[in-house]
Amino acid sequence: MMKSEEDESRILRTRRKTEQALGPRERSVQRLAVRAMAGGRAPTVETLSRELGLQVDAVREALASLEACDCVVMDGDRVRVAYPFTMDPVPHEVTSSHGTARANCAIDALGTGAMLAEEIEIRSVCSYCSASIRLRGRESFKATTIGPVVFVPASDLIQGHASDCVCPSTNFYCNEEHGRTHALALAARGRLLSLEQATTLGISAFGDLLESTSAQSGERRPVKME
Ligand SMILES: [Zn+2]
Repeated sequence: MMKSEEDESRILRTRRKTEQALGPRERSVQRLAVRAMAGGRAPTVETLSRELGLQVDAVREALASLEACDCVVMDGDRVRVAYPFTMDPVPHEVTSSHGTARANCAIDALGTGAMLAEEIEIRSVCSYCSASIRLRGRESFKATTIGPVVFVPASDLIQGHASDCVCPSTNFYCNEEHGRTHALALAARGRLLSLEQATTLGISAFGDLLESTSAQSGERRPVKME
């Protein structure tokens, strides 16, 4: 299992550090892409250009900078991932007033309530037994079925896009037993977090993503784990 409790928060800190280097144009492209995906729409270079009133080349350049720091993942001219959301058929559905989207992982899903500043519903499954997991909330979540735990893999496994390497194993489980059994079977290194701990991580990663002032303020909420 993990060496240090701060191990998994390093993922988020690294991502944030590179995000701070983004300019206002990149930030507005990122925010619009995330908002479109919240409604289940895959943004493209063309739609972003039209909606922001920016040249296609400027949008393409901004997306390249965002992809370089793993804030988005492109598939040709289409945005495939704009964290916390993805167009991939992953099992974490997030329903808000914008529509239904898919989150990259359990942590990303748990950060979207604070990010969208509204109560959301998360529909997922236990990665071990496929039991349905339904959560409702904004900054803290109530389970309507089972109160799950979240498995977070060790951060030294990151190579390339988080959406491809750590997100697929950052999942919900019915309970610690299902989490441990599955992690053991997959020989996955990492830690099991309570719903509250996982929500704290998700909020620290995405809580202020859509606030237009956050890039300038430089304020960063500390990640409290225990
Ligand atoms: Zn289960």
